[in-house]
Amino acid sequence: MTSRSKPASAGLNSQLIAGLERLGSALRAQAWSEAFARGLTPTQGQVLTTLRTHRGEGLRLLDIAEALSVTPATASETVRALVAKGLVKKTQALSDGRAIKISLTKQGEGEALAVAQWPSFLLDAVDELSDEDQTAMLRGVLTIISSLQGRGYIPVAQMCVSCTNFRANAHPGEPKAHHCQLLDAAIGDPELRAQCADHAPGSAELQAENRANFMTAAGDPKRRLPVVPAKPPAIR
Ligand code: SF4
Repeated sequence: MTSRSKPASAGLNSQLIAGLERLGSALRAQAWSEAFARGLTPTQGQVLTTLRTHRGEGLRLLDIAEALSVTPATASETVRALVAKGLVKKTQALSDGRAIKISLTKQGEGEALAVAQWPSFLLDAVDELSDEDQTAMLRGVLTIISSLQGRGYIPVAQMCVSCTNFRANAHPGEPKAHHCQLLDAAIGDPELRAQCADHAPGSAELQAENRANFMTAAGDPKRRLPVVPAKPPAIR
């Protein structure tokens, strides 16, 4: 490497980080302004949209903490505030009488629908990217999140790379190089999920293996995990 090329590469890293910071600031500013107008905090808004995505019996507190990548204490505090506003309720799960599930009230459903529109300003901007650029960006974002998770900077998010059903580069060299065992189907980078209602955390070993395979752009066959046949319930 020449003395000129190394600073150029380091500059690329820092420019990318600066760009991510700008996007993060824009999202935070938009979320705060929308939330403030509705008497909510951005985290309260995220809980509402998460519960809206996971219909049915509702979610446990730990599920909400995991979905938002926040601590259980933060999730508990946020849910308590939303209960006080009449937007969510706690009930005992039908399937397990001891488990407390959290779900939207009627009023909460309307509020969650409104909150779901918050990131639309970003959607228009993202839609200006080509499909290839969106795919590359999704892959890049998932790689960064996965790396941060692996080093313990952020909790495990509900995305493919940390999922027990994911097999990164199970089909090396194919357009759909990965495999979702829940779907029992090959999936390509454009189908990767950054948030999936059917996510279940994989073991530490599986997550590390998937991370390594995911980051192997060429899909080295020696690194792939076997695909285990699984019955495919419908994915939400
Ligand atoms: S269940 Fe969802 S998160 Fe898990 S591998 Fe399949 S699509 Fe990805």
